[in-house]
Amino acid sequence: MYFIMTTDVECHSFETNTRDEAVAKRVEQEALPELLRLYRKHRIKSTFFFTVRFAELSPKSVMLVRKAGHEVGCHGYDHTDYYDQMAFEEQLALLKKCKTKLEKIAKTEILSFRAPALRINKSTVIALEKAGFRFDSSVSSQRIDGPFTLGAMNKLGWLYAPRRPYYLSYKNPFLVGNSKVLEVPVSAFIWGFTGTHMRLSPVITAQLQRILQLEARLMGKPIVFLFHPNECLSFKRKRTEKRGSLFSDYLRHKLKMKNLGKTALELLDKLLSRCPQNTNFVTIKDYKPW
Ligand SMILES: [Zn+2]
Repeated sequence: MYFIMTTDVECHSFETNTRDEAVAKRVEQEALPELLRLYRKHRIKSTFFFTVRFAELSPKSVMLVRKAGHEVGCHGYDHTDYYDQMAFEEQLALLKKCKTKLEKIAKTEILSFRAPALRINKSTVIALEKAGFRFDSSVSSQRIDGPFTLGAMNKLGWLYAPRRPYYLSYKNPFLVGNSKVLEVPVSAFIWGFTGTHMRLSPVITAQLQRILQLEARLMGKPIVFLFHPNECLSFKRKRTEKRGSLFSDYLRHKLKMKNLGKTALELLDKLLSRCPQNTNFVTIKDYKPW
């Protein structure tokens, strides 16, 4: 059974529900060492998707991740870059810029990409290919809260996207096609297999994990989990600024604050302990689909 642990590293404050560059230092000093310890304990090699801005603020975090043998991937420029909102040329220029900058900091080739807020469109496919990315993980097949998150309309494609990794279509990122970019979808089955969902309901997440493990055994589909190091930080709740979303900001914020800090790490430890003995924890670039 393949398990692909993905870790998104960005300057997000759960306190204010906004971008906050001060988070970078806290992640570097408090969250990342704990998370790397946990990954070592479970013999996990993870793909860490860094925003370029985070990597610039904390190159040390990138090197810590590299030294521990994990993969460094790209999570866009600063998490305000929504690819489904950009024309093709703009996407291509930005992806090239992100790749070059991140490669300079990480001192290695960057092949894997995850779009901020998982927002992509068909132009992203060709832009990724032309910019030299070989893997994408910005789709979450059959996750139904997609339509309630940022970029809702485009995420309706999640409902019919393939469950197994697939080469993206130039016409539609939710269909199999002939591009050279392999999509590795974040696991979901109605409920997303993510740190946020795990903190929201550890019980539902444990049930989902059981279903995904059965599917992995029967169909050979890899399990893909999505976690954020800043979930390991404790935050105090503060009033938030308004963000454009279908969900009420208050409710989203309240839900997203649940079980942060040490509890998040403990829940993740439990989740990983439920993986069978023969689990093969691989990075996206080392995963061999066929
Ligand atoms: Zn993100």
